[in-house]
Amino acid sequence: MSDAGTLHDAFVDELRDIYDAEKQLTKALPKLAKSASSPGLRSAFESHLEETRGQVERLEQVFESLDEKVRGKHCDGIAGIIEEGKSTMEEDFDEATMDACLIAAGRRAEHYEMAAYGTLVAWARGMGHTEAARLLQQTLDEEKAADEKLTSLAEGGINREAADAAHPADGDGEEEDGTPARTGRGGTAAAVAKRPTRR
Ligand code: ZN
Ligand code: FE
Ligand code: FE
Repeated sequence: MSDAGTLHDAFVDELRDIYDAEKQLTKALPKLAKSASSPGLRSAFESHLEETRGQVERLEQVFESLDEKVRGKHCDGIAGIIEEGKSTMEEDFDEATMDACLIAAGRRAEHYEMAAYGTLVAWARGMGHTEAARLLQQTLDEEKAADEKLTSLAEGGINREAADAAHPADGDGEEEDGTPARTGRGGTAAAVAKRPTRR
């Protein structure tokens, strides 16, 4: 068992993986930004691109704090997520729908990163690599904030606009099939749904 890898080896391996993932994202984010129609969404992607460049440098500091060579190792996971995002961008969707789909793609990437950094922070803390843990926590916080920003853009109008394009309202708060609209009169959607249909 003396040749078996340790958690420290796995830690360095995961750092190489996420280092490569961040570099892939610095190439993907400009494409997402370019495909976005909403100015708020475009600037969210652009500012996360800047943040991501900083995360690459922060990982270099993590390697240095561990006396490890700065090195990446191809990350298949983020490559797959980016590949799916590219397929989305090739679709012929209306603008709001494309924006909603770009947010979905972006959130997949953020959640992948959150899982990776969450694990890395826990391992670094567990092994007493306090400087590495501090740096990795900073990035984890940025990834969470980026995810929340995308969610707030979706819920702050983009999803509504896309949904309205899919199902235009008939003007008096009811959809054509008689389903009460979400903006309907009073009560939660569930409460409204339980009510017997009028007329
Ligand atoms: Zn260690
Ligand atoms: Fe990142
Ligand atoms: Fe990110």
